[in-house]
Amino acid sequence: MVMGDLVRDVDVVVIGGGPGGYSAAFRCAELGLETVVVDAGKRLGGACLFEGCIPSKALLHVAAVLGEAERAKEFGVDFGPARVSLDPLRKWKSERVIGKLSRGLASVAKAKGVEVVGGRGVFEDARTVRVEGDDAQALKFKHVIVATGSAPSPLRDVPLSERVMDSTAALEVPEIPERLLVVGGGYIGLELGQVYAALGSAVTLVEMTDGLLPGADRDLVQWVGRRVDKQFAAVRLNARLEALRETPSGVEATIAGAAATFDRALIAVGRRPLTEGIGLEHTRVKQDARGFVQVDARCATADPRVFAVGDATGEPMLAHRAMRQGKVAAEAIAGRPAAFDNVVVPAVVFTDPEIAWCGLSETQATTEKRAVRVGRFPWAASGRAATLGRSDGVTKLIVDPESGRLLGAGIAGPGAGELIAEAALAIEAALLAEDLALTIHTHPTLSESLMEAAETLLRG
Ligand code: FAD
Ligand code: NAD
Repeated sequence: MVMGDLVRDVDVVVIGGGPGGYSAAFRCAELGLETVVVDAGKRLGGACLFEGCIPSKALLHVAAVLGEAERAKEFGVDFGPARVSLDPLRKWKSERVIGKLSRGLASVAKAKGVEVVGGRGVFEDARTVRVEGDDAQALKFKHVIVATGSAPSPLRDVPLSERVMDSTAALEVPEIPERLLVVGGGYIGLELGQVYAALGSAVTLVEMTDGLLPGADRDLVQWVGRRVDKQFAAVRLNARLEALRETPSGVEATIAGAAATFDRALIAVGRRPLTEGIGLEHTRVKQDARGFVQVDARCATADPRVFAVGDATGEPMLAHRAMRQGKVAAEAIAGRPAAFDNVVVPAVVFTDPEIAWCGLSETQATTEKRAVRVGRFPWAASGRAATLGRSDGVTKLIVDPESGRLLGAGIAGPGAGELIAEAALAIEAALLAEDLALTIHTHPTLSESLMEAAETLLRG
């Protein structure tokens, strides 16, 4: 402890104010625990609000509007060439979207009596967190929740610069580069690649594996694959970025032995946990080889006073998982019988078209040699999809062949991210394909595709 530091006793310290941290803190406060959040930026929202989910979805909305305007030509509506002004776009994103939500979180914290202190939280010992920064102090806790999240993984020998951006820099939209290289064909490479392509950049995407969104079912991914094949200047699969060199006028990339020049590059090759240098060695917490904190179903670590939630605890690094874990940790600390016993963590890639899935995938079923039945409904047969001019999608359900119980679902198409919620609920509730087939879905809607996919399974 540094001489002169303020020392306080609190019930719970939460290190990190992202979705995992603030969800945990709010629930702790609701359960009557005095709770202090230590956040490096002295604000709630974390990567999700300031450099992740929210800004990327705001920009994807802009891209969707541009895409719709282009598509409208098909039915005789021509708005003329789009003119994008970056200053108002950035102002809208920062003030009307992020600023509004940030103020909302601050007022919820105030209403619940959660204090947010600014600075880096570092474990001094297994009972004390030292806050380094503006609000320097030592917090003695009964329990602590590590919710420090994650940061973009760097690419070896490729330092970031003004031209070589990570997702945080790219979300600021410093300009619309004429030629943009995107390294990584995962969530971020595709979402932000589509944003920049819609704004007018010629995007070249390089993915080292043989397909986009590795791990996701190919019959879903093909829909976004077809779209980016048209939208991007090039999609290079099985290709690695071998070197990236700055030149006076751009960046020169070596890909599969050949050099090509771009105005900017976006590196999106995954994320790593922010668990280094926070004094975890002063606790009994265990970490895996990649630095993720190991937790049990209660989000408890190997140290009885220390809990951990969110990206710091591993895959899938998604905000809704972090939020659920946050609530579980808070309830466990308050002595309630809570567990992260969810059957599914749904995933959505907010591309055009969206790709969403939850539960068992076909890929996983094949790997595990697990017998399943799959019911598919192509959106080409959907009335609603036709009225939207968007037949580019599919809904599929994966069921247990004996019982008909729903095990997984995958949806590709505009709005898939909303539609997957019904499948997630059905799986959590242990419903059968028959339950979905017999539920009246409003007509004409895309939600009927879940009912239709279920009906194909009943037909045998
Ligand atoms: P974070 O949100 O990373 O928050 C951690 C907080 O802790 C930060 O404020 C950080 O400054 C602070 N911190 C770190 N170390 C310390 C310390 N020692 N002391 C004090 N404070 C500290 N997920 C989705 O579910 N849907 C999406 O659409 C989506 N889109 C994304 C788009 C992008 C571009 C990115 C990068 C991510 C996206 N994600 C999305 C992932 C999502 O942002 C994360 O899963 C989520 O933010 C994790 O929440 P968290 O609370 O674990 O950590
Ligand atoms: P990712 O893991 O989704 O994708 C990284 C991709 O980069 C992979 O396809 C990988 O094969 C490829 N890659 C790795 N090294 C490479 C190299 N040297 N050259 C070429 N390709 C390479 O990671 P991401 O896109 O950076 O996103 C990070 C995480 O953030 C995601 O896994 C997800 O958890 C979260 N996220 C979620 C959303 C969402 O929910 N919609 C959106 C964005 C980010």
